[in-house]
Amino acid sequence: MQIKRFLPLLAVVISLAFSSCYKTIPKSKDVQLGALTSNKIHSNPKQYPLLKKSEHPVAYKQIQRVVDNILKSPDIKEEDIFAYDSITIIQDDDMVNAFCTPGGYIFVYTGLIKMAQNEDQLAAVIGHEIAHAELRHSVKKLTRGVGRQAIIIAGAAAAGASFGVFIAVEVGNKILGLGLGRDQENNADKKSVIYLGTGDQYSAVALADFFEELTKAGKNVRIPPMLSTHPDTENRIYRVRKWAKKFGYRTEYGEHPEFTLLQNSIP
Ligand SMILES: [Zn+2]
Repeated sequence: MQIKRFLPLLAVVISLAFSSCYKTIPKSKDVQLGALTSNKIHSNPKQYPLLKKSEHPVAYKQIQRVVDNILKSPDIKEEDIFAYDSITIIQDDDMVNAFCTPGGYIFVYTGLIKMAQNEDQLAAVIGHEIAHAELRHSVKKLTRGVGRQAIIIAGAAAAGASFGVFIAVEVGNKILGLGLGRDQENNADKKSVIYLGTGDQYSAVALADFFEELTKAGKNVRIPPMLSTHPDTENRIYRVRKWAKKFGYRTEYGEHPEFTLLQNSIP
């Protein structure tokens, strides 16, 4: 009798124990969370001044071309599910950065497009961001922070359910403010090298070269979040070169004449 009374409680404890793992969350939830975050950004032009697709078709066509080139890598597994074809350009020349929400909504700052010395460097940074989505870094961290249930509910709300709107707002805020750890950044760097290497469109050391450019620019650029939390930029440069060599990837730069078109199409 006593045991029976505690059974419901036991069931809750067991389900909580098992549900803390992000791997039990279906990947379709990543896309819902991404849509939620993307909508938040699109409805906040003050913080995120966006370049309108209808007014800048060339810029959008070109940036999609770069992403499609990265996606040629067989190591990117979620392109059929994730929203890698939904790219947004944020007009902020001071921000040398890009980010990717869970589920693959990519955001690229004009500052990055202008700062990149060539298309390979731009692709390397976007590749790093795609890796965060592929490796589900935000979802993993979020599961620890707000719990699996909140993610499921927020995803449902984002997909149009009438409940959980408040939770969805909270989760959306959390995703935008989420900082990732050094290990996750390191893994994203490595994946970027692998994507560029196996995709065979770009130099596999472009990420290292981009980091070097940033270091050289020093105080003249606002250090992007992907670097600011990392005092070990030197190590990241070293590791990128090491991986490219170890895996035997092409390090030469190819010709991408359309990159000028992209840079010139940005106001
Ligand atoms: Zn990162």
